[in-house]
Amino acid sequence: MSDAPLEHPDGLFPPIPANETERLRELESYHILDTLPEQFYEDIVRLAAYICQTPMALVNLIDRDRQWSKARLGFTDSEVDRKLAFCSYTINYPDDVFVVPDATCDERFAHNPFVCGDPYIRFYAGAPLVTPNGYALGTVCVVDVRPHRLTPEQIEMLRVLARQVVRQLELRRDVLALEQRLLTNEQEKLSLRAYLLSIEAQLAQAQQQALTDPLTGLLNRRGFEQRLQEEIDRSLRYNVPMALLMVDIDHFKAINDTFGHVAGDEILRMVAQLLRENVRRHDIVARYGGEEFAVILPATGFEGTPILGERIRRAVQQAAWPYVPVTISVGGACCDATMTNATDLLTAADHALYDAKRSGRNCCIVR
Ligand code: GH3
Ligand code: MG
Ligand code: MG
Repeated sequence: MSDAPLEHPDGLFPPIPANETERLRELESYHILDTLPEQFYEDIVRLAAYICQTPMALVNLIDRDRQWSKARLGFTDSEVDRKLAFCSYTINYPDDVFVVPDATCDERFAHNPFVCGDPYIRFYAGAPLVTPNGYALGTVCVVDVRPHRLTPEQIEMLRVLARQVVRQLELRRDVLALEQRLLTNEQEKLSLRAYLLSIEAQLAQAQQQALTDPLTGLLNRRGFEQRLQEEIDRSLRYNVPMALLMVDIDHFKAINDTFGHVAGDEILRMVAQLLRENVRRHDIVARYGGEEFAVILPATGFEGTPILGERIRRAVQQAAWPYVPVTISVGGACCDATMTNATDLLTAADHALYDAKRSGRNCCIVR
């Protein structure tokens, strides 16, 4: 680091590194301050004390206003005022191990409360924790209550321990970043899944709406045609009969003309409801168009079809009507080996309905 340390405003106090703002940002990026004790750092201080033969050793970080110890041996406080910390000097010399052989003989420390009072520090040696970007975040340091000297090998070992600590800090930061990335990925996946689900729900709703008649809530012409083809296919595949009823309200135009379209709509809804109530659970009722309805009768042959047709005709005739009595004409056709497509079945049922109209209406004819 080429930056020269700036004098602390109070003169007597340790200088503040010239790159202090960036240094603090770098320290923040490691997310190490105020974390719980970890075995790795405990081992480092034990090794440092053993190698340097001192009763005290610490791994310290210099925060904005305080020195915080990640690990400490023989020293009580986990946090001290930055102005009183020996390590506040050390971080100003990133290339050196900072040594104070006898604090009582050094004017920078002679009046320091940790020198004058408990624990009566005499000796200090600190190796700075320098990140790959060149910022000194703190130290690995050893402390003695007696004046002390370190051999060049011991000083070198302090540097080695400081490098190990920085390596560990780097690893920790990488792991945190990876975890964050995994979390973000997971969150993105979740929101994508939620988005897909909502799209699917919207699609299902749109499909449902596309097949439903808004006035009566019955299947509309498109929905009816889909279901009709499905039922014809099933009938042919399993060789079971099926039938179709076409239903047309008699003289409906007169209701509209006399009582208005709103009344006409009301009648359409009531007929729809009556049809729904008077078919079996698996029969399918649809609004074919205008005042015409269709009922698909799965698994129903020539005997059953007129019975079902007659049942709904009677239900309509016997219902309590608000304006005038309403009746329907019903034409039915059955699907057999000679009639294998929807058009044939529809045409046959339509012809039967035409016959019913010609026969005076309010009746059911099955071909
Ligand atoms: P028929 O007994 O021969 O079936 O006579 P009809 O009057 O029922 O037959 P027509 O085809 O002459 O008249 C059908 C009427 O249905 C004409 C049309 O205005 C009316 N209509 C069709 N769709 C609707 C609707 O959604 N609401 C109302 N209110 N009327 C409708
Ligand atoms: Mg009609
Ligand atoms: Mg009609």
